[in-house]
Amino acid sequence: MTIFHANAEPGGAAPLRRQTERFDISGRLRAGAGGYEIRLRSRQGGRNHAVHTHFNLVADSGDLIERRPLDAQAARFIIDNFEARGDTASFDIFASDLTGSGMREREPVATDPKSIRHQLTGSEQSYTATGTKLAYHQPIFDKYRETGFASIIRATMTLHQVCASKCPYCSTIRRNRADAITLDEAKAFVTALGEDQARYNRDNFAVYNDRYREATGADIGLRGLILSGGGQPNLWPHFAEFVDWLAGLDMDLGLITNGFPPHIDEDIYRHFQWIRLSITPEDASPHYPGQRFDAQYMPETIRHNDALTVGLSYVHGPWTDDDILARIDGALEDNGFDYCRVLADCNLSRSAQLAAHGALAERLFQLGFIDVDGQPLKRIFHQLKYHGEGTEAEELWDGGQCFLQVYNTFWDTTGHEANGHSACYPCDSVTVLAGDEEPERRFDAERWGTHSNTDVAKLYTEHVRPFFDPRQNCAACLFMRNNRMVKELSSAGGLDFTPGEPPEHINFP
Ligand code: SF4
Repeated sequence: MTIFHANAEPGGAAPLRRQTERFDISGRLRAGAGGYEIRLRSRQGGRNHAVHTHFNLVADSGDLIERRPLDAQAARFIIDNFEARGDTASFDIFASDLTGSGMREREPVATDPKSIRHQLTGSEQSYTATGTKLAYHQPIFDKYRETGFASIIRATMTLHQVCASKCPYCSTIRRNRADAITLDEAKAFVTALGEDQARYNRDNFAVYNDRYREATGADIGLRGLILSGGGQPNLWPHFAEFVDWLAGLDMDLGLITNGFPPHIDEDIYRHFQWIRLSITPEDASPHYPGQRFDAQYMPETIRHNDALTVGLSYVHGPWTDDDILARIDGALEDNGFDYCRVLADCNLSRSAQLAAHGALAERLFQLGFIDVDGQPLKRIFHQLKYHGEGTEAEELWDGGQCFLQVYNTFWDTTGHEANGHSACYPCDSVTVLAGDEEPERRFDAERWGTHSNTDVAKLYTEHVRPFFDPRQNCAACLFMRNNRMVKELSSAGGLDFTPGEPPEHINFP
């Protein structure tokens, strides 16, 4: 149901407003900056909101004509058609619709992923989860095949839900700032998956544990832990103390953040094996001096540090111009960082996402960042990550169970304040599953949750079982390749999937 609230003339004093079942949408003139902005706020909890300031003008062929700042006409068009087009596709406007008499029905343009200029490189395999690194953990998949028990070797923690940025593509727009965990809860989670899990495997699965120790030098337990979530895990009050404590454990650490608060001791970052800094649209972050990401504070300990892998992450969209891509390239050079992965907005539906990937690849080619075959020429690489589809889902999950449960867990704190605990999920991408429906843009434990943080040990002390049917809940999964890899490693018994050139960071498969 759409409830129409108010709709004043663009440029007048009152803003454009519309309310759908899921969002409050408002458009207004931007104070001081010129042009319009459109704000989206979820109606289903959380106080966070996303701000859009640009849109893509698209030809009937689906090709991008240009990126434009929102003006009065475009803002009205988007708000008038928001319910039909959704919270992401609304910002791609066909030029003929904008100049004509309204929005026409269109068939989605089917882009074949194979037609996109792209090469799967060593960087993409090392610095993103393509599934390749799973082959280095074969004994845990033998254990799963022969016993039905999982081995949680990789985990991600969100710690809290705090972020000051207003990214248009935010995957957790419906988060609640009050959902934070305590230091004791954080340590209990890591102890259960680390020390306790290793002991459990030594005692109960000695054969597989010995094989794993021979292959990796460690017991079967948590090998890679990522601190992420809410945009800035390093704003969590216990961040430095927690990282100091983690540094004494036998596991590799990764950090995903939107920035570096100046009050944090710079030496704390030396404990990470890798750090990935997300570059937001420059008008979405309050931390960018003069709205320039490359003017933000960078700890000296992460610059030109050969002992630490530092990468940037950038989502390409209507907010992107050539200048920012050139400055990302310059920032990699200036800071001695290792890479920047660039990808399309994961909130888009599969067809729109593939079209966006195609446009991104062509832009990288035109700007000289990739060659004619899609091979990176500099440190920027294109991560070709896109939604799956129903036919593949039916064939892949013939047993009705997600395979990421076999080795991975993602603890998100959504609901923690109200319930005193919160759920673990098999992956982080359930918030952006854009299939036939709009993505949820929040973690929904009823739909995708496994065990809560207080019961996390059950992930490896009980038989793996389906918590939900991914054929129904996850047909647009972004990790079908990883699911397929687990399925094959767990069923092939003896096939060698390890690539010739070992990737880096094998404890973050
Ligand atoms: S989106 Fe894919 S990987 Fe994530 S829970 Fe669903 S099936 Fe598993």
